[in-house]
Amino acid sequence: MSTAPRRNRRAPSSTSSRTAREKPPQGVVTEPEPRPDKIPFDIDDVLARVRESVRDFADAAMFALSARGHDSLFEQLVACILSIRTLDEVSLPAALALLERASTPEALARMSPGDIDALIRPVTFHEAKAHQLHAIAVRTRDEFGGTLPCDAQVLQSFKGVGPKCAHLALGIACGHEAISVDIHVHRVTNRWGYVKARSPEATMAALETQLPRRYWVELNRLLVPFGKHVCTGSRPKCSTCPVLDSCRQVGVTNPR
Ligand code: SF4
Repeated sequence: MSTAPRRNRRAPSSTSSRTAREKPPQGVVTEPEPRPDKIPFDIDDVLARVRESVRDFADAAMFALSARGHDSLFEQLVACILSIRTLDEVSLPAALALLERASTPEALARMSPGDIDALIRPVTFHEAKAHQLHAIAVRTRDEFGGTLPCDAQVLQSFKGVGPKCAHLALGIACGHEAISVDIHVHRVTNRWGYVKARSPEATMAALETQLPRRYWVELNRLLVPFGKHVCTGSRPKCSTCPVLDSCRQVGVTNPR
């Protein structure tokens, strides 16, 4: 007679049609290691508690811009490029300065890369980004009649635009169900034990398999402030974390 404990973790309500006997794709954790000191991991419950805990923190830059009316796909893409390797506290003012001067492809295309650079100078790699933004504006004006199509392949055909930016811009501006995995989303979901992946790209693939679609856009919105203020890169604040009883704390060795 089997003495294996009965697993009572609720299966994620993924749209995947995988059966229990099929091997899950790499990086997917269907049943996190049970721990006697932890309750079963329930993504609905965990995200509800995270949502409550980040209520008073500032929104990530692109969501903040959208709330201020800069919600077109072009504006969101511009903001995401500015945010690459740059803190939100730096990229958000730069995006506002640029978009208040030129919020459409036509207006940005009329500026020179030098003029764009002067407005975004505090941002990392500002000179290269100025040229990228100008090229995107020109191509959007000339090739797409001034309106970017809600198409991930088109966005990723621009220099400097990868899945993280394309997915987040499409999620916010076009309502696409798309997961954007930055360093915070990658770190937190792996520490939870919800996925097991070495890179943000592998984490995105794993999340696409098991995260319920209703959370695909919101995940980034929640985990960026959560990763900045609670589940920080070094010495996460586990002792006061709202999901400590569920989190497997994978790889965490020196928590606060
Ligand atoms: S318990 Fe610690 S490792 Fe887990 S989510 Fe909270 S802060 Fe991060």
